[in-house]
Amino acid sequence: MTQPLTITMHPGDNVAIVANDGGLPAGTVLTTGLLLRDKVPQGHKVALEDITADAPVRRYNVTIGHALKAIAAGSWVHERLLKLPAARELTGLPVATVRPAPQAPLEGFTFEGYRNADGSVGTRNIFAITTTVQCVAGVVDFAVQRIKAELLPRFPNVDDVVGLEHTYGCGVAIDAPGAEIPIRTLRNISLNPNFGGEVMVVSLGCEKLQPERLMPPGSFAIVDERSVAGRLEGGVQTAALDVVCLQAEQHVGFMSMVESILAQAEPHLVRLNARTRTAVPASELVVGVQCGGSDAFSGVTANPAVGFCTDLLVRAGATVMFSETTEVRDGIDQLTSRAANAEVANAMIREMAWYDAYLGRGQADRSANTTPGNKAGGLSNIVEKAMGSIVKSGSAPISGVLSPGEKLKPGQRGLIYAATPASDFICGTLQLAAGMNLHVFTTGRGTPYGLAACPVIKVATRSDLARRWHDLMDVNAGRIADGAASIEDVGWDLFRLMLDVASGRKKTWAEHWKLHNALVLFNPAPVT
Ligand code: CA
Repeated sequence: MTQPLTITMHPGDNVAIVANDGGLPAGTVLTTGLLLRDKVPQGHKVALEDITADAPVRRYNVTIGHALKAIAAGSWVHERLLKLPAARELTGLPVATVRPAPQAPLEGFTFEGYRNADGSVGTRNIFAITTTVQCVAGVVDFAVQRIKAELLPRFPNVDDVVGLEHTYGCGVAIDAPGAEIPIRTLRNISLNPNFGGEVMVVSLGCEKLQPERLMPPGSFAIVDERSVAGRLEGGVQTAALDVVCLQAEQHVGFMSMVESILAQAEPHLVRLNARTRTAVPASELVVGVQCGGSDAFSGVTANPAVGFCTDLLVRAGATVMFSETTEVRDGIDQLTSRAANAEVANAMIREMAWYDAYLGRGQADRSANTTPGNKAGGLSNIVEKAMGSIVKSGSAPISGVLSPGEKLKPGQRGLIYAATPASDFICGTLQLAAGMNLHVFTTGRGTPYGLAACPVIKVATRSDLARRWHDLMDVNAGRIADGAASIEDVGWDLFRLMLDVASGRKKTWAEHWKLHNALVLFNPAPVT
C-alpha cells in the first residue's frame, strides 16, 4: 500500500490529521511507529499520545476541545469525543502586541485594468442595473436578456449586463436598528469598481426603499456630461439619479417599461464600451478571501497558500479583505495582537461583540457554524475550523476594519477585516459592497460558487477534489498535502493567476460556465 501520510501543524499538538486519499485502516503503522487502533478517514485526527479524560486536545498549538473520556494513542479523535471550549471573553485581550517584521515591498507587478473616475480599478467592465425592491426583479431580468441579445453585440468592450436583484426593499422595518446594513450594502454594490461608476436604478414606485434613499445625492458621482450640469450640494458635485419607475404614468403596458429600461441603458453602455484596459500596479487589486465547504485540509493546504499570497499582495501595496466573523471569533486574541493599533483592535472587538449579541438574540452561538460536511471532512468544531480559516489572513498587521456593508475609504489599503457572516453568499455580497474586484474562494468539500459581478478563483484543498471537479476548480492546493508543491509554490501560482484573471487574459471556471450565486443581503432588522 501507499506510504501513510499524517500532518501535524505544530510540535505542541497531540493530534495529527491523516492525509491519504480514502484514509488509513486500523492496524496501519505510521512512520513514527504509532499503530492505528481505528480506521481514520482522510482529513480526520489521530491521537499521537494517550490523552486522559478532560485533558486538552491540541491542534495549531491551540486547545480545540477537551477529551470527554480517555483517548488512547492511535485512536480516531472525532467530534463526539470532544467538548467545545467556551468562547474567549472579549475583555483583557492583547492589543497590537505582535509586530510582524516589515516585509520588503514587492514591486514591478502589474495587471491590465479599467481605471475609474473615483480612483478605483475594475477587473471587468460590467453594466449593472440597480434595483430598489424585489418586485421589479422579473421585469429587470426580462430587460437584461433583451439588452444582452439586442444591444450588447454593438458594445463588444462591455463584458456583461447584470441586474442587481435581491429580496430587500419593502415589507421591512426600514428604520429599525440594523436596517442600514442592507441599504448601504446595496448602495455600495452599485458603486463596485467593476461597474465603472455607471449607476442606473429600476424602481417600482410604492416601495419603502425609495431611489433617493438608496442613492442619496452625493453618494455617487456620474461621469457623463450631466455631472457638469449637476448641482453643487454641500460642496459635493451631484447629478440626477437615472431611474426607471415602473409605476410612472407614462408606462402603458409591460413593453413600455422594458423599452424605457433599454433606452436608458444605452448611454451607459456607450460610455462603458469606450473604456480600455491600461497597465496598473498590482496595488490596485482589492481581493476578498473566503472559504466554504471546508474540511480539515482547508487549514493545511489551501488557506495557508492563500495566506502566503495575502502577504505577497500586501507587500505589493494591494488591499486584501478577510471576513467571516464566526470563523475568526475563536482566534480573536491572535487578531487583536496583530492589529496595527488600538483603534483597529477595538474595532475588531466591537464587531465580535455585535455578532455575539446578534447570535444571542437567536439563542445561538458560534457553534451553529459547523456543517455536517465540515464534520465529515474532519473538522470537529468551530474552534478547529476557525484556526484553519484565520490563516487566510497571512501574517501582515491588520490595518483597518469595515462593518457589514461598508465601503473601503479612499486610500484604505493593506490587510482589512471586513466583518461579515461566514455564509458564502452573504460574505461575497458584503465583500462586493466593500469594493472587491477579485475574489478567492477555498473549498475542501467542493462548491460551484461564483459571482456575476466579479471573478471568483476557486482553490481546492485536496487533489481528489481537484481531479473530480477539474472543470470547476482553478487551483489545486492539494499538491501541498501530496508533497508535490510547497505552500510558497502554490501561493506564488495563485498570485500570478490573480494578475492574469484581473487582466481578463484568463477566465475562471465559474466565468467560463457563467455560474453565479444570488446577491444575498444581510438584514439583521425585522421583516414586517
Ligand atoms: Ca464562507
